[in-house]
Amino acid sequence: MSQSDTFFDYKHIWHPYASMINPVPCYTVISAKGVYLKLKNGKNIIDGMSSWWSVIHGYNHPILNKALKKQIRKMSHVMFGGITHPSAIALCRKLISLTPEKLDCVFLSDSGSVAVEVAMKMLIQYWQSLGQKRKLFLTIRNGYHGDTFAAMSVSDPENSFHKIYNNLLPTNLFADAPISSFYKDWDANDLISFQKIIEENSSKIAGVILEPIVQGVGGMNFYHPTYLKKIKILCDHYSIPIIFDEIATGFGRTGKIFAFEHANVIPDILCLGKSMTGGTITLAATLASRHIADTISNSKTGCFMHGPTYMGNPLACAVANANIKILKTNQWKTQVSNIEKQLFKNLLPLIDHPYVIDIRILGAIGVIECSRLVNMFSIQKFFVENGVWIRPFKKLIYIVPPYTISSHALKKLTNVITMALNNTKLFM
Ligand SMILES: *Cc1c(COP(=O)(O)O)cnc(C)c1O
Repeated sequence: MSQSDTFFDYKHIWHPYASMINPVPCYTVISAKGVYLKLKNGKNIIDGMSSWWSVIHGYNHPILNKALKKQIRKMSHVMFGGITHPSAIALCRKLISLTPEKLDCVFLSDSGSVAVEVAMKMLIQYWQSLGQKRKLFLTIRNGYHGDTFAAMSVSDPENSFHKIYNNLLPTNLFADAPISSFYKDWDANDLISFQKIIEENSSKIAGVILEPIVQGVGGMNFYHPTYLKKIKILCDHYSIPIIFDEIATGFGRTGKIFAFEHANVIPDILCLGKSMTGGTITLAATLASRHIADTISNSKTGCFMHGPTYMGNPLACAVANANIKILKTNQWKTQVSNIEKQLFKNLLPLIDHPYVIDIRILGAIGVIECSRLVNMFSIQKFFVENGVWIRPFKKLIYIVPPYTISSHALKKLTNVITMALNNTKLFM
């Protein structure tokens, strides 16, 4: 690739959450294998982000590649309206057997944000079928559920810049985020805000939506399992269905296949995405209880009104099948628990660093909350020059490496983070 390609990209291509004027420069990756990204200058860097939580078994995995090739010989795509195919059936069987018995009906879609839209639309239709016009969703602050309109409307109002989209976003209800963290004592005061809102609005709320235990990019907080348990009890009391967004946490990231297992609480609707295809192709799923599916289906329309063009894409389904098969047979639990142990050993001592406010570790997630904003221009360059790919945001430096990372490569990630903290030029 020539210099002019990089310049063309800089001038003409929008990247995520980026400006078209003087954006943070992008690095060209020409291939990837295992935990390494190969840059066009030939340098290999260790991916600490799993391409945004998705590449759990490493890049260029032979089993995933084989599944794609096998499927592509049959067909890459076929419409899902009026047609079904073996890969979708096999995947939905797997998803149903992997999740709690209550979750029985699968809706496939093309991205996490859409899976959230689908879940929210399901609950609007659910209440319509019961003769009620409910449209409010209740959630907690610091959440993140995606970038489409309904998903934004339940993401943290400050973090997702609600004010930019002003009157266009549906107005929803936000309870204070819990303070009790995963490893600390449960403080019953955490529930007050949520309890008050649900009591006062119970007849208007269509559903509650939460990321169980781990709040992802809305703040990377890990909250107390008791909070989730208490919320579920309140939802049951008022007969309000609850959606769990496990798009980031699903498929083992927190040390359990699903994060809600830390609290033993089962949702009425579950959203999955990101790592479902092992980071190969976009695919998401919304799983609903039979009760919700049947209630929607018993309405006047009788149908759930959503249908993406690429719904149930055979390539995506085939590779998701292979991805789940790897999870079922490999040592993901040992891999994730080894990562967790090593992160405790290598990151926790940084708590005394003057730039560090908090260190949070759960499963294969390591978070350093800093006292200062990072300087994206200089820290991104620093990480790459030191052989790692870590993409912090605001005051958070976090890593979510592939489960297959060696202890040597993980040590390199935490070493470079330590070096970064000692470099004042990388912070604002
Ligand atoms: C990434 C993410 C989404 C959105 O998924 P996309 O595939 O980016 O649309 C929704 N919820 C959570 C918790 C996520 O981490």
